[in-house]
Amino acid sequence: MSRKLDNKIALVTGGSRGIGRSICAELAREGAYVFINYSASENAAQDTLALCRENGGDGEILRFDVSSSEECDSSIETIKARKGGLDILVNNAGISRDGLLIRFKDEDWDKVLRTNLNGAFYCSRAAARLMIKARQGRIINVSSVVAQMGNAGQAAYVSSKAGLLGLTMSMARELAARNITVNAVAPGFIETEMTAVLDEKLQQEHKSAIPLGRFGKAEEVAALVSFLAGSESAYITGQVVGINGGMYM
Ligand code: NAP
Repeated sequence: MSRKLDNKIALVTGGSRGIGRSICAELAREGAYVFINYSASENAAQDTLALCRENGGDGEILRFDVSSSEECDSSIETIKARKGGLDILVNNAGISRDGLLIRFKDEDWDKVLRTNLNGAFYCSRAAARLMIKARQGRIINVSSVVAQMGNAGQAAYVSSKAGLLGLTMSMARELAARNITVNAVAPGFIETEMTAVLDEKLQQEHKSAIPLGRFGKAEEVAALVSFLAGSESAYITGQVVGINGGMYM
């Protein structure tokens, strides 16, 4: 039986854990060959690869730090050498460093911006070079609901995620003529290690502000990303698709 993403080559940054792992598993289930990027969690990346294979797909692990322009360039060259091109890029790798504005350190600001925003720019630039030649491609940026709403104590994270929305729209306009679509997804609270660190009381407070009354699942974000990666979404570009249980509308 043919699958939606058969013969497609995908790269998911931050594919070792959380939402990225679910995205890898879903793209693999749909037939894509998935390059699973990680920066530190080798064992977790191996587990993601095993999950891709359990889902009837395949892929390989590619370690690089998205905050390094050189590493992004050389890793996408590696993908080209291994598979001849890249059809789907999911810029998912992200970190957060939270703290009040007046105490926030320069190095934390730089680290968040370099990982979340520069990383997406470096990977997209390198990927776009291949996609332009192929005259097709999909770029999906994982932003956040806080990019649309703001969040106290998260100036750096929110700025990086809002920057991603600007990057999404600019790239969408620039690359549309080459049949490359660029979209962002903006998840609300999703059950991952990133949200598990919130204490129970805070989690309940957050849930009470979500019309659907619960946190989302990584698999739900992965299903949306998979839709945006496939041919059914061919006429969608430059959009921010919220997946937040109604928290922002
Ligand atoms: P997570 O569980 O903390 O996973 C983060 C992933 O990013 C890991 O695979 C990590 O790999 C990778 N990563 C971090 N720094 C990297 C770097 N410099 N180079 C390459 N990979 C790097 O986070 P998550 O909750 O799944 O979040 C995934 C994305 O969704 C993030 O962009 C996050 O901002 C966004 N998001 C999450 C939520 C949520 O509620 N969870 C909501 C909205 C948006 P290593 O461990 O190998 O470093």
